[in-house]
Amino acid sequence: MQVARLHGPKDIRLGSEPAPPAPGNGEALLKIRSVGVCGSDLHMYEAGRIGYTDITEPFILGHEFMGEIIALGPDALNGEHQPLQVGQRVAVEPAVPCWRCELCEHGHPNLCPNHYFYGLFPDDGALRERMIVSARNCFPMPDSLSDDAGPLLETLGVAIHAIDLSKIRIGHSVAVIGVGPVGLLIMRLALLAGAARVIAFDKLDWRLQKACDWGATGAFNVDRQDPVAAIMDVTDGRGVDVAIEAAWADHSVQQAADMARYGGRLVLVGIPPDDQLRLKHSVARRKGLTIIMSRRMKHTYPRAIELATSGKVKLDELVSHRFDLAETAGAYASNAAYEDGVNKVVLRVGC
Ligand SMILES: [Zn+2]
Ligand SMILES: [Zn+2]
Repeated sequence: MQVARLHGPKDIRLGSEPAPPAPGNGEALLKIRSVGVCGSDLHMYEAGRIGYTDITEPFILGHEFMGEIIALGPDALNGEHQPLQVGQRVAVEPAVPCWRCELCEHGHPNLCPNHYFYGLFPDDGALRERMIVSARNCFPMPDSLSDDAGPLLETLGVAIHAIDLSKIRIGHSVAVIGVGPVGLLIMRLALLAGAARVIAFDKLDWRLQKACDWGATGAFNVDRQDPVAAIMDVTDGRGVDVAIEAAWADHSVQQAADMARYGGRLVLVGIPPDDQLRLKHSVARRKGLTIIMSRRMKHTYPRAIELATSGKVKLDELVSHRFDLAETAGAYASNAAYEDGVNKVVLRVGC
């Protein structure tokens, strides 16, 4: 089978490798059909590391993906504990928790210290034609959802989890810094959750345009306008109830804190390239901010599928570029350069 491996910074190579064996207990063999490129993938691609994880040998990226089931092991129950069927199209939640630690027992599998994660070094991801996955991580996709929407259910799950943690209430004002795919979805969900105002910030005009198309009540380019001043202007100096950072988590964290009202909430979703949190203690303390670190998601796939099939969130509109598996290196290079109009890049595998 064809496989795309990351060998080092900006070095993705296509190769041929043996197909996986038959699936074991609780496992499914997938024919991979569609894989998304995420901001965290771009970190690994550009730097050869993410957070404090260094990539020390070639590995396969791709944690946002869907495929078709071509074989099942015994006891292959899906994420909702129903039997899977050969031929089903499934979206796959990439984190596989242990289900037997304190965090898993307490309903926080996203914080399980014993998990592995498809597409995060050293666990191989989905940029290959065949892959064995845990059946419990599979969520069947309704026919009305496209292959492209499959990888985006993961992105939507990240956004749902951030919104859950934000505790947005009806009538709240919300600022979202960074409206890449995750930020755009957060913005959209904040509106659906009842926020009266959602103001979007980004460096890229086409993303701000998309935010407006999706209902943002304000959109500002941070290169042309001071984002904190913009928020203070539209809120008469009060600040927003909830400020969400979904960008590169550099000085934008401080900006988000500056945007929040006294007693407001600050939700941090972005991952900084240098693993440092930049936040003035005095601002957060004097305002009495509640600071929330959002990590991944937990059991969001069923809700993500509901939102996507109902049309309340239009996942296909986020896909700006499509490439074949053989073009993976070029796809990453163009995404990393933020070529004009790039939102979500999707790689099509074996279809
Ligand atoms: Zn991702
Ligand atoms: Zn666990």
